[in-house]
This record gives sequence, C-alpha cells and structure tokens, in this order.
Amino acid sequence: MSSLPNYFAGLDIGGTTVKTVLVDERGEQVGDMVEVRSHVKEGFEATFQQLDSAIEQLLAQVGAEPSQIKGIGMDVPAPSNDGVIWGQANLGDDWVGTNIKEAYSKRQGVPVYMTNDGNAAALGEYAVRKKHMGGLLLVAPGTGLGGGLVLPGGRALEGANGLALEIGHISVPHREENGELPQCSCGLYGCLEAWVSLVALRRRIAAALEKEEHKDHPLNDGSPIEEKAFRLRDFAEQGDELALAIFEEQGRILGYGIADLVRVFDPGLVVLGGGLAESEFRHQYLKFVEEGFRERAWPMYVESPFEPGKTTTRFEWALGGDSAAALGVAYSARELFR
Ligand SMILES: [Zn+2]
Repeated sequence: MSSLPNYFAGLDIGGTTVKTVLVDERGEQVGDMVEVRSHVKEGFEATFQQLDSAIEQLLAQVGAEPSQIKGIGMDVPAPSNDGVIWGQANLGDDWVGTNIKEAYSKRQGVPVYMTNDGNAAALGEYAVRKKHMGGLLLVAPGTGLGGGLVLPGGRALEGANGLALEIGHISVPHREENGELPQCSCGLYGCLEAWVSLVALRRRIAAALEKEEHKDHPLNDGSPIEEKAFRLRDFAEQGDELALAIFEEQGRILGYGIADLVRVFDPGLVVLGGGLAESEFRHQYLKFVEEGFRERAWPMYVESPFEPGKTTTRFEWALGGDSAAALGVAYSARELFR
C-alpha cells in the first residue's frame, strides 16, 4: 500500500493562456502555477500535449509521480454538456462535438471534471473563502460578461445542458438617450453584456467624446479607442467627471442585472471579478453597482426586515486573481474524486 500523498490538477484552458495548478488532499495549492501560451486554435490534440507537459512540470515541482494524481479538473471557454463542447467561442473547430472530458480522462487514466470558465472562476472564489459555506454568485465584466453560481456546499450550477448562468445575456431596463438598445455580441438587443463589457465601454467613450461639451477632453487626443478605454480608469480615479459618469452608468446597469439574478438565486454573496477587481477604482465602482442594485432589488434582498442592519446580499471583490479558475476546477476534482 502506498502512503504517497494524493494530488489533484486544475487546468484552466483559455483562449490566450493555459494555467495549471496542483492541490493536495486538503485542497491547498502545492508548487507554483504553470502558465503557457494557449494553442487552442490548433486543435485539442495540441492543447492536450500542453496539458501533459504542464502536469509533468507541476509534479516535478513537488517531486511526485504521475500515479499520485487522483483526479483532474478542467475548464474551457465554451459551453459543454457532460464533456462534449457545444459552441466554439475561442477554440479551434475540432473541439466542437468532441467529448473532451472523456478523451483527456482516457489519456491520463484518471477521472476528469469539466465545466466552463465562468463556473470555474466562481468555484475558485468559493475555494479561496475557506469558511464560506453559503452560495456564491460571480459576476465578472471583461471583454464579455462572465458569471457562475456555486451552490451551498460547493458545487457549481451547470444546468441540464451545461448552459446555465449565461448572465451576460439577460436583458436590463435601460435604453440609450435616443430610446434604442445596443446590439450584443450574441445578436440580441439590450443584453446586460452589451452595456457593461469592455466593448460597451469603448462604444460609450467614442459616443461621449463626439459630443460638443467633451471636445476639449484630454482623451480626445487621437489615440486608439482601446487605449482610451484603458486610460478611462485613471481619469475616473482622479475624479474626472466624464469618466465617472461613464462608469456610473455602467455600474448601475450591472447592479440592475445583479438585482434580477439575486431575485432568482438569492446567493447571499455576490463576488465581482474582471479587470476592475485589481484596481484602486474598484471601491468607487462598487458604490455605483450597489446603487443600481438597491434601485431594482426589493428591500429584503438588501437588508433583513427583522434584524435591521443585517445585510441579506453581501458584495465582495474577487480574491482568486489569475489562478482562480484553475484552483476552482482543482478544488472540484478534489471534492469529487478524493
Ligand atoms: Zn447577448
């Protein structure tokens, strides 16, 4: 009988990078995260080779044998149903329709848990809050709007088809000044993502800078819109009115969306992720989000009617950082396969 320790690997497969971690039987990370540039566009076989090599590196860091890995957690930036990928998103063509979970499980000879990147990040936020036992809703504005829900006890809500928590595509009660709704990347009009993503932010800035009153704004300097969007946060931190107004609108609308999600799931804890989680400006931004939330949420979702001052929905910023998703799926593999 072997007394060697057991490990669980977490593999976060993204469009840009592949991040991998190892956790032990207590769920503690061992060694450092191994991160490589993603080859997902070249197909899943190329990615499997990267994963194999990352796992070897992780094992070498702790001086362990492959047989000490008892399970693997994996996440992909696409919807999947029991291991079969349904939509392409950022992946190469051959991923769609393939049972990735089964194929990699056979290759490594251990069970694999697979989910999407939003759920993985939510599981990671759950895993790093060691004492948190309740539900957790992750809302992460970035290029799009990611989300995930962890149920009390630590399992992600996947949905019957692995399609739950596409939170970017719920609609919100807000319109442009001319009454129109922005078109979303999914083709629909008025989706939450079409208001709060980075793409939406660029559209907002471009429209605002065209107005007469903002002709002399320092952002009207001919720089590319991507750069303007990046700099807007600095302007907001310095109290620039235009930057604050844009973020206020965006934050409030995000709050509207969260109010509806809270009415459906009552998670108790809402974790905000995305790029803003690491900026100083996040404190101010959260105030905007909470304002929007309170505007649309019923009072009992904000504060207990029986214990005045007792918050019923708490907001926190993401803590997991870069390795949240990899840790989240490693955590789930440990829960499922230990
Ligand atoms: Zn949409």
